[in-house]
Amino acid sequence: MVWLRVAVRGHENPALDAGRIMAATLGLPLLVYHAVSERYPHASDRHHAFILQGAQNLSQELHEQGLRGVFHVERPGHRGPVLKALATRAALVITDAMPLKPLSSWTNAVAEHAPLWQMDCSCVVPMSALKRQPTRAFAFRKATLALRQDMLDPWPQVDAHTEAFHGELGFEPVDIERADLATLIAACEIDHSVGPVADTLGGSKAGYARWERFRDGPLKHYARQRNDAARPRSVSRLSAYLHYGHISPFRIAREAQAMAADKFLDELLVWRELAWHHCHHAVSDPRAWTALPTWARETLEAHHESTPLPLEALELGQTDSALWNLAQKSLLIHGELHNNLRMTWGKALLQWSRSPRQTLARLFELNDRYALDGRDPASVAGLTWCLGAMDRPFSPPEPPFGSVRSRSLAHHARRLDLERYGAWVSRASLPNTPSILVVGAGLAGAAAAHTLARTGAHVQVCDKSRGAGGRMSTRRNPQGAFDHGAQSFTARDPRFVRQVKLWEAAGAVAPWPGKLGQFDGVLSAGSNTEPRFVAAPAMNALPKRLLQDLTLHTQTHVQRIAREGQQWRVETETGELGLYDRVILTIPAPQALALLGTDHAFSTALQNVHYAPCWAAMLHGRAGLPWDGIRCSSGPLAWAGRQDTLPDRGGQERWVLHASPEWSQANLEADKNWVAEQLAQAFAELGGGGDHSLDVHRWRYSLVTQAMGKDHLQHQGLLYAGDGCLGGRIEAAWLSGVAAAGAVLAQAGHGL
Ligand SMILES: Cc1cc2nc3c(=O)[nH]c(=O)nc-3n(C[C@H](O)[C@H](O)[C@H](O)COP(=O)(O)OP(=O)(O)OC[C@H]3O[C@@H](n4cnc5c(N)ncnc54)[C@H](O)[C@@H]3O)c2cc1C
Repeated sequence: MVWLRVAVRGHENPALDAGRIMAATLGLPLLVYHAVSERYPHASDRHHAFILQGAQNLSQELHEQGLRGVFHVERPGHRGPVLKALATRAALVITDAMPLKPLSSWTNAVAEHAPLWQMDCSCVVPMSALKRQPTRAFAFRKATLALRQDMLDPWPQVDAHTEAFHGELGFEPVDIERADLATLIAACEIDHSVGPVADTLGGSKAGYARWERFRDGPLKHYARQRNDAARPRSVSRLSAYLHYGHISPFRIAREAQAMAADKFLDELLVWRELAWHHCHHAVSDPRAWTALPTWARETLEAHHESTPLPLEALELGQTDSALWNLAQKSLLIHGELHNNLRMTWGKALLQWSRSPRQTLARLFELNDRYALDGRDPASVAGLTWCLGAMDRPFSPPEPPFGSVRSRSLAHHARRLDLERYGAWVSRASLPNTPSILVVGAGLAGAAAAHTLARTGAHVQVCDKSRGAGGRMSTRRNPQGAFDHGAQSFTARDPRFVRQVKLWEAAGAVAPWPGKLGQFDGVLSAGSNTEPRFVAAPAMNALPKRLLQDLTLHTQTHVQRIAREGQQWRVETETGELGLYDRVILTIPAPQALALLGTDHAFSTALQNVHYAPCWAAMLHGRAGLPWDGIRCSSGPLAWAGRQDTLPDRGGQERWVLHASPEWSQANLEADKNWVAEQLAQAFAELGGGGDHSLDVHRWRYSLVTQAMGKDHLQHQGLLYAGDGCLGGRIEAAWLSGVAAAGAVLAQAGHGL
């Protein structure tokens, strides 16, 4: 069996050639296995799209050669130890070598179940050719000179007759050539907030097309123009294709040599391969802080000076450096960073991070999450080089670099035509940028709109209320602010956990270690079973923050939505809102059903979503209770939450009371004043005495009691998202909104 990961091509592939030779020699059938997991670091729509497009080209090539390739896409209903089961039955597994985790660990795990060979498919000078880790480029250049000459001969043709394996696989392979990639990607539990890159499609065909355009034109000026990021077409922009092995580095090197492109060859064969050799020979994880040379760590720590910025501000390009912000835009939207900017970008991070160690972690986070060539040995070497790896000390030492080679962001900005570079990174990310309307400015709508906008899409939002928030609303009375809907939230899904950490670092969210009581007829101490968070300074600040630079039409109640040609006409009570290519509805399911009608494609799914109602009361005055929140399992109340002790609130004592679903349902149409009296009385039974005044609000749709179990719905450019999809929690609303945005991005002209 040949297992491909980083040489995903059917040509010039040592692993595939070895597989064919060994199958013929052993007289056994051959199977080519390729898969995409949901668990690789930073798994996202962006990487998945590139990988799947590459898999389509691989499949075509294998067909043409009479080989059987099977492709496994990990997703709900298609998980399990598929590879292990296959490997157990294989006489030999041959794979392409990758010296970094997790692939190196996965290789070791498979080797426990079958004889396994690793072939170096990525370097012209194989990683095993040198005995120890190269430390500097000049030494590597010298040590590999002779070897490089030998290895640029034409690729040898393998003459081996092999039978394809047609036995039982133990899983259902994806027919990748015919698959609808957008639907497949949407089904995977991966980060949908990082969308595919519209103008960098994956696969050998797209990769060679890019190479040939470069080879036949800009390559001859490469030596002179390669360092000017404002002339982006002067560089090959092949790194993503090399990372996934969609193109053969051997062919690129041969053809560059034929054109005597020495500088380009030096980058490809010395700098790129130095990085692979460096990672291959590393005794421990080459990404670790401890993998940096001792002198670099010591000098960086001794001279560290910074004005720390939250990671989110860095990620979204919200610094005072126009150049950094543009570089981030390039990463966020286009998944690439010009080679000459990488060093400046990487070293600049020192001045905004709490420590050099944090700088390193942030470099990997920002690069690997967005760059299509992230997680490559060349990326690892490039990022660690920013902090002194494979380099020498320079003097005099100066902060924040110490004696690590310095690079000034301001200086680079002065030597670059920023306007021209800005125009390049601001180019349309989609060939046909769709107009998008998000209906509903609760967290799901805000998350969808924010995700779309940061990848350059045209998006507007409308809500029938006076502001953003939905069920994360905050009501302001003369006594202060009341979060009368959602009180706090948990974070369990790793994607939401990451986002909450970003918000927390930016001060938008704070942990809520509230002192809890419980009431079951008697009041006693309660406990929190898992960490809870609140938005700061109010619950509605979070959706507002996500929508801050977007067009939000408030008090705009959508009452009709109709298909017109390929678009959707959206109407409100006062007239037409407009025609949109895509509409994302993020309103509670019964309201969506009323809008769309029972004969719509979504109706069955929407009808299956159920909500409990909730009467909420806002109360101020001293209560004399020693708790920040009380969970109630007896009487009309389900919850009493103190507002003034929440992070960033303060002011006079005030409480929000939530009636239980059963009580709220039984008294759904009751008079407001009567409800207020009943809830005040129930609060007094908890021990909440004092002179109170009360305001009440009825949530007809409060917590979801039955969700549809899909993260979004879509049909003909209309999408549905919200907590009705995955469950009645803030986390679920965010995940669903992001998933719907991801589906729009994946479909909007990415060749998917
Ligand atoms: C009382 C209460 C307590 C809760 N407690 C918690 C908790 O402790 N933890 C937790 O995680 N979650 C809690 N939740 C649930 C959480 O608030 C929701 O899951 C989440 O906020 C839902 O977000 P959403 O964007 O899906 O929907 P919503 O927030 O409901 O947003 C939908 C938006 O659509 C707008 N809209 C509706 N119809 C139209 C239309 N036709 N035209 C234009 N706009 C329209 C609405 O005005 C609203 O702003 C609670 C909710 C309530 C009400």
